[in-house]
Amino acid sequence: MSGILNPKMAVSELNNLTTDLIPNRALGQNFLVSQRAISFIVESLQLCPDDLVLEIGPGTGNLTLPLVQKADFLVAVEIDRRFQPILQRKLANFLGPKVRLIWDDILNIDLLNIVLELGGQDKAIKIAANLPYYATTNIILKLLTELPSAKMLVLMVQREAVTRITADSGTKEYGPLAVMVSLYGNVKTIMKLPASAFEPQPPVESTLLKLTAAKASLLKDPISAQSFVSFLLYAFRGRRKQFLGRLRREGYVVKDSHQENELISYLEQSEIRRDFRVEELSPNQLFGLHNYLRQISCFPSD
Ligand code: SAM
Repeated sequence: MSGILNPKMAVSELNNLTTDLIPNRALGQNFLVSQRAISFIVESLQLCPDDLVLEIGPGTGNLTLPLVQKADFLVAVEIDRRFQPILQRKLANFLGPKVRLIWDDILNIDLLNIVLELGGQDKAIKIAANLPYYATTNIILKLLTELPSAKMLVLMVQREAVTRITADSGTKEYGPLAVMVSLYGNVKTIMKLPASAFEPQPPVESTLLKLTAAKASLLKDPISAQSFVSFLLYAFRGRRKQFLGRLRREGYVVKDSHQENELISYLEQSEIRRDFRVEELSPNQLFGLHNYLRQISCFPSD
């Protein structure tokens, strides 16, 4: 068992606490133990006095503590309440004025409201996470949909997920995730990590990504980002089907109607073939198409 600690030991040794916590693999509990990686994540966020940091899955607080020491304010969302005593102890000096812990499933909470309640409209939102790999796609989609004005995200992901996150149109990995990331801004691999950077070690290698908002990102407004992602989820369920035919079959446009003729002229102006499949369209073309379909009240959504 090459270098894998007894998982029960791992958490207690790491935190210098006598706890019987057994990491829950189903919740992706692989704790980051590389100090170099932890410092690098904090550095990469380029924290300034007005920043509000959102951490997803603080776990035992390995990353949370160094983040709190640098950030103006940190809100962390953790699903597993077993970490409450450890986190409260580690963060005792900061709880209240500098830190808020939310014990919930990140996928079930209203992030925008939480951030607004914390005065997020006047702050730069920066997001940090050693993500639970089982929910990578859903968490990134949620972050970019509900907090599209976030300034940057520094995310640990499974190495294989990078292909899906950065996929180009026309490839089989291209989907809502790659489209949303591309419209949000730039994505860069900033570190590659072996399994030994974590305890217990995951069966995969990891990559640290930095996503930085484009100045003129089309996703700035959460209402249109919500509507767009909902459209993408619908559209990519039939990624290989001709989209116009699908809209007709599913009753969103009536053949030869005024609405369909308008849509066809829009496609011509946008240099999109009538028999296009959604997987062939660039993120910008998909965004334009979504806006146009809304404008002519033909709005398929998830
Ligand atoms: N940040 C810690 C670290 O780097 O050592 C822990 C990272 S661990 C890879 C992922 C964390 O996300 C775990 O603490 C896990 O309990 C938490 N988690 C898993 N699913 C979650 C969800 N749906 N909502 C919130 N937290 C979640």
